[in-house]
Amino acid sequence: MRYQSPARAISLVGFMGTGKTTNGQRLAKQLGLQCVDTDDTVQRLAGKTIPEIFATDGEEAFRDLETRALSMALSGPRSVVGTGGGVVLRASNMEMMKSAGPVICLEARPETILARIPARNDRPLLQCADPAGRITQMLAERREAYAQADYTVQADYRDRSVVLGQMMRLLENDPRTTLMVDRRTRVHVKASNGEYRIHVEAGAFDRLARLCPPTAAGNPCVVVSSEAVAALYGEKVLGQLTCGGWRAHLVTVPNGEGAKTLQNASMLYDRFAEMGLDSGATVFALGGGVVGDLAGFAAATYRRGVRFAQLPTSLLAQVDASSGGKVAVNHPKGKNLIGTFYQPAGVVIDTASLQTLPERELRSGLAEVIKHAAIADAGMFAFLERELEAFCALDDIAVRYVLARNCQIKAGVVERDPYDRGARACLNYGHTVGHALERTSGDWELKHGEAVAIGMVAEARFALELGLCDEETVSRQEALIKRAGLPTHAEGVDIQQAREALRVDKKIASGRLRMPLVPRIGTVQILRDADIEALQGVLATVIGSGTA
Ligand code: NAD
Repeated sequence: MRYQSPARAISLVGFMGTGKTTNGQRLAKQLGLQCVDTDDTVQRLAGKTIPEIFATDGEEAFRDLETRALSMALSGPRSVVGTGGGVVLRASNMEMMKSAGPVICLEARPETILARIPARNDRPLLQCADPAGRITQMLAERREAYAQADYTVQADYRDRSVVLGQMMRLLENDPRTTLMVDRRTRVHVKASNGEYRIHVEAGAFDRLARLCPPTAAGNPCVVVSSEAVAALYGEKVLGQLTCGGWRAHLVTVPNGEGAKTLQNASMLYDRFAEMGLDSGATVFALGGGVVGDLAGFAAATYRRGVRFAQLPTSLLAQVDASSGGKVAVNHPKGKNLIGTFYQPAGVVIDTASLQTLPERELRSGLAEVIKHAAIADAGMFAFLERELEAFCALDDIAVRYVLARNCQIKAGVVERDPYDRGARACLNYGHTVGHALERTSGDWELKHGEAVAIGMVAEARFALELGLCDEETVSRQEALIKRAGLPTHAEGVDIQQAREALRVDKKIASGRLRMPLVPRIGTVQILRDADIEALQGVLATVIGSGTA
């Protein structure tokens, strides 16, 4: 499935009496969007009725207000926008509507329109002796302008559900609005070491009984979760799985990176054995990347592998850690030192779970989102520049689009390189400097995403210094990272230690550092022989005041 940037608005145009207001309200209700009527906004802006505006200020003043109301509606929250009949008279209005999403023209015969105009006709443009003749004339004058709409829907029907049905069918097939019409989004991963589906939906955990049925009633399953996430979603998930026919158990581990240990893996083996987990069992990882990595590692190694499914609840886990099949625990000698590749049997993302995610965790996850956009999708990068606030406010369509697109980008890379032997290196953009900062961040405790954000800033500047990209490619990344509330400088980091950490980076093979860089937004290039000293020089620009 190919995602395109979703629409901000669906605009309805058409002659007066074609039912734009009623049909707009029904369409908005069906899609869970708000409905804005530009005529209402015009009256609010002017503080008088439309006939009064025509009478006192004239049609041109009305058209100016109408353009203003339209611009306000199209730049506000996602909505269905019902417009006045003459909005198409200004070509720039049509352009504005089309750049925000699809435009549907409702069309009706003159006799239908006449029958729908109330007996006490207050339409300023129909104040004449022959309204029927006037309607026919105006329809002819506006025909060409209405024809500029993306779609035309016949609106003569008395049964309004016919009109709604026609509009819904058109929108279902329009890539800009697919996400608005279909409340669920799916991404398929087809790697040589596993095929599975990533299901993205607000409220998916409420439907787990349907989404994750056992192969046989009474099959055992274990939900592994962190204490914090179990307190929020444990009961719901356990209840749903039980309703679906599983014999379900819950096991919790402490919150945070400290839980990713062999000791906790061993504790999980004990619990799995006590519960009698057999080859028909499934382990569900409910939580952030820590739980996913730990539970996945335990599932991969218990009885040489039992089925494993991811229910990721942090943004980082949803867009990155839950797909790809890397599972691991930490060792005193290094992070993720003991692990394997084990693809999940499925991933279910309930976007509503982001509502409880602490804000710093959400912003930290955004760094990986920006990274995916920078290396692979200029369209999503532009979408984030335009709609970052909608995403951070957890607007359903913005979140589903961004999550599904990220999963799709990651899936594409994983399919090409399931065992991390080459192509996956592009996902390390921002990570060379990021890891060096993480290893030396001391008391300041940079989160992974924060370190990657600073890493992207440094590595973008490095690419500029090498003449591989232009100023704009750097400034757009820096600006988006700042707007996402992520740091662009690391404070409290010892520069000498960070320089040294860069020198011992694990990506250095035979003294040569391989690192991905972004020549243009949406593209990536692997630099095979990076000059470590030059990179250390750039590192100094993102530490402390950033002016070193
Ligand atoms: P995390 O798992 O520690 O989660 C962050 C915190 O948020 C935790 O305290 C958690 O309990 C809490 N939390 C999670 N979801 C919540 C929700 N919906 N509401 C309230 N609280 C919630 O950290 P993370 O950032 O999700 O993951 C980091 C881990 O992921 C690291 O161990 C990293 O190595 C790993 N990782 C793995 C891969 C991979 O491919 N396997 C990729 C990237 C990162």
